[in-house]
Amino acid sequence: MADTSGQLAEWLSAYNPDEITIGVVASHSALQILHGARAEGFRTLGIAVGEGRRKMFKAFPGAEPDEWLMLDDYKQMLDKAEWFRERNVIIIPHGSLVEYLGPDNFIDLQVPTFGNRRILKWEAGRDTQREWLELGGCTMPKLIDDPHDIDGPVIVKYAGAKGGRGYFVARNFRDFRRNVDLEEDFTIQEYILGTRYYMQFFYDPICDDGYQVEGMMSRDGQELGRLELLTIDRRDEANVDEFYKLGSLRDLRDMGLEPSFVVTGNAEVVLRESLLPEAFRLGEGAVAASLELEEGARGMIGPFCLEAIVTDKLEFRVFEVSARIVAGSNVSIGGSPYMNINEDNMSVGRRIARCIRKAADKNRLHDILS
Ligand code: AMP
Repeated sequence: MADTSGQLAEWLSAYNPDEITIGVVASHSALQILHGARAEGFRTLGIAVGEGRRKMFKAFPGAEPDEWLMLDDYKQMLDKAEWFRERNVIIIPHGSLVEYLGPDNFIDLQVPTFGNRRILKWEAGRDTQREWLELGGCTMPKLIDDPHDIDGPVIVKYAGAKGGRGYFVARNFRDFRRNVDLEEDFTIQEYILGTRYYMQFFYDPICDDGYQVEGMMSRDGQELGRLELLTIDRRDEANVDEFYKLGSLRDLRDMGLEPSFVVTGNAEVVLRESLLPEAFRLGEGAVAASLELEEGARGMIGPFCLEAIVTDKLEFRVFEVSARIVAGSNVSIGGSPYMNINEDNMSVGRRIARCIRKAADKNRLHDILS
């Protein structure tokens, strides 16, 4: 796998900071990324396979890109690197881009990309996520190594499952055995009863005011960076969210039904205000730990999401981290209760564009791109 870190300086030396184009695959959170890039005065590029995507954007002229790159396959982006660079393109990565290209191809993409793409390696595996989050001071749901030890509700997660498809809940070993597909890799986690919060933070390494992240080495002798809480959502998950309407778990089993956790949408939420200091402690810990994960690590840059359950003891259990913009932030395209306190009409997409604009002005693009 090529390491693009050395090449970034070379690519950027040919970039004109006044002519930057923000490029994004037209899916996932592209509406807010394009809308936000335009609000910050950037030229925009949409990348798509299939006319359906382009047509959908006609319904949202405020987010329509200035230019389209239409492809037969997203992997063609890899051969277009020079074309992107000639146009001063900065790619904003999101979950769909990584999925379409594959994580290794994404890391090899020879185009400046917002954030630290190498952090994906840590996000990609459940074990590496656990190492990262626990190092940062998060408490995670317990793991059950031997299914015979299941003595309360657990959630079984398959390694390749997308969007919670195929997960199941078991109360004991018999339950587990009846449902499990032993051909697949899985992990068994303690099922945490509580309410879910998907907290989208933003870490801006070039801001030296606001909520400063402590306990970090400074990057290149620069000031430490600012942590922001941009928005919180909760996923709508079919069918588990509506399960209770059909009776008890036993009634449902009699009908041959098991809860599933497939994401169908999102709703905006806020945290009880007294929980915010703890939320910030967790976000701060995740950023600080991201710099310790490997020798010379550049750590977390830009948006990341801590996915947590808060119990009735008001304790957080973090079950996952996403090291990028999450699609749940689409609930806040026009602002969120948190972002609105500081500025109207801010979105996570626009916050990314703002970060790029400031870095370009300060000649510090190398600090926020990879
Ligand atoms: P994940 O793929 O880890 O994001 O999990 C998908 C969904 O499963 C989450 O959005 C939660 O609704 C649920 N979930 C995941 N882990 C747990 C857990 N340990 N306890 C209870 N629910 C969970």
